[in-house]
Amino acid sequence: MKKLIIYNTLTRKKEEFKPIHKGHVGMYVCGPTVYGDAHLGHARPAITFDLLFRYLLYLGYKVRYVRNITDVGHLEHDADDGEDKIAKKARLEQLEPMEVVQYYLNRYHHAMEALNVLPPSIEPHASGHIIEQIDFVKRILDAGYAYISEGSVYFDVEKYNQQHHYGKLSGRNIEELLETTRELDGKSEKHRSIDFALWKKAQPEHIMRWHSPWSDGFPGWHLECSTMGTKYLGERFDIHGGGMDLMFPHHECEIAQSTAALGHESVNYWMHNNMLTINGQKMGKSLGNFITLDEFFNGTHPLLKQAFAPMTIRFFMLQAHYRSTIDFSNEALEAAEKGFERLKEAYQRLQKLKASEHSSIDTTGLRQRCEEAMSDDLNSPIVISHLFESAKAINTISDGKATISANDLKELQETWKVFTEDLLGLKMKAESDNKNLHAYQKAVDLLLNIRLEAKKNKDWATSDKIRNELTALGFSVKDTKDGFEWNL
Ligand code: ZN
Repeated sequence: MKKLIIYNTLTRKKEEFKPIHKGHVGMYVCGPTVYGDAHLGHARPAITFDLLFRYLLYLGYKVRYVRNITDVGHLEHDADDGEDKIAKKARLEQLEPMEVVQYYLNRYHHAMEALNVLPPSIEPHASGHIIEQIDFVKRILDAGYAYISEGSVYFDVEKYNQQHHYGKLSGRNIEELLETTRELDGKSEKHRSIDFALWKKAQPEHIMRWHSPWSDGFPGWHLECSTMGTKYLGERFDIHGGGMDLMFPHHECEIAQSTAALGHESVNYWMHNNMLTINGQKMGKSLGNFITLDEFFNGTHPLLKQAFAPMTIRFFMLQAHYRSTIDFSNEALEAAEKGFERLKEAYQRLQKLKASEHSSIDTTGLRQRCEEAMSDDLNSPIVISHLFESAKAINTISDGKATISANDLKELQETWKVFTEDLLGLKMKAESDNKNLHAYQKAVDLLLNIRLEAKKNKDWATSDKIRNELTALGFSVKDTKDGFEWNL
């Protein structure tokens, strides 16, 4: 197995990746909270860990990739009434909460597919693991790191911090936190404002609720990841990922919960992708720059000059290293669109190159250089720059100013396919597919115009033949006063 170096957020160092079980990788990534349409904030971790997933598979590992669905217990309530967002939407629209979840989950999957993000191995729902979460709370209570208060259960951060280190991941210090953490709901059920809920007693109007030894209620948000990570990847596993915004409190709380319940830490390597901005500003609903992925794909948001294809978004994100910030603007996306177009053109030319007896230009070593970049903490921008460098050689050969041998050509074609399509996950033929689609639509129009002409000339045999054959192929043809309409 080739050497892979990754940056571990926990140790703040680049480390050589060594899996717990030889040849196998257990990887957990915090997935979406499904109460709204997928936006750029969803796309970045999905694409970052998709890149890692693909590269681990390329290196020959068997990977179990778990990405959860948060469909209950997210404590980021609406500020005005403190109601769970899914429950609120369900109430307002008179839906089952699970209808709201399924609706947004379908849309999320659709957007991920458009971005060519591979589905994870397991996609567990928080709401489907209530029993496991209750058991996990019991373990934390038994270990003495939680307390029951008014039907809710809270994690005792101060007590935990006496034995362990709360704040080790995010680097925050607990004294500071004690001063700055606000009360979540203004009630004084908690001993300390820094304590977080493991189980919350539900208010009477709360529709998403389950029985537990403490109350009818619901689990705290952080709990699902400790529980489902342990269930599907074991008490110790290799990689835990997510956006940097989740480091505190979410991942800090996960570490505390798992350490409290299991007696040791679960995760060997913590990985976090950096944040993104839009025109230099943080994305936020109140700032009017909250753009969903569908709005990018259709160009319907007022801030966008045009629609941007999913592959342009993916390429743009991969042009930055995952630990760097990215700023989205029309100009930057247009530049990415052009750059990606040039890469695709080189790829098309590469398919058409003819081999000569000898190579008069050196195209070798591309695979090794790209592997080195990927193995250095997934340096996708360097991979892309190597590909652009190689594109120059391809264009030179294509222009007849250099030659390439059959062996070199085969290796070059394979390397391009592996790094563009398989690892960066870029669809290199999408543009020609669009052209094909366009040509086929024109061809059907042409046939129907011939039929129109035939009808005018009372050539019923030709007119019927075209109509019947198209119908047999599955087209439906409708005559209108302006001519015709068709669809497949
Ligand atoms: Zn999580």
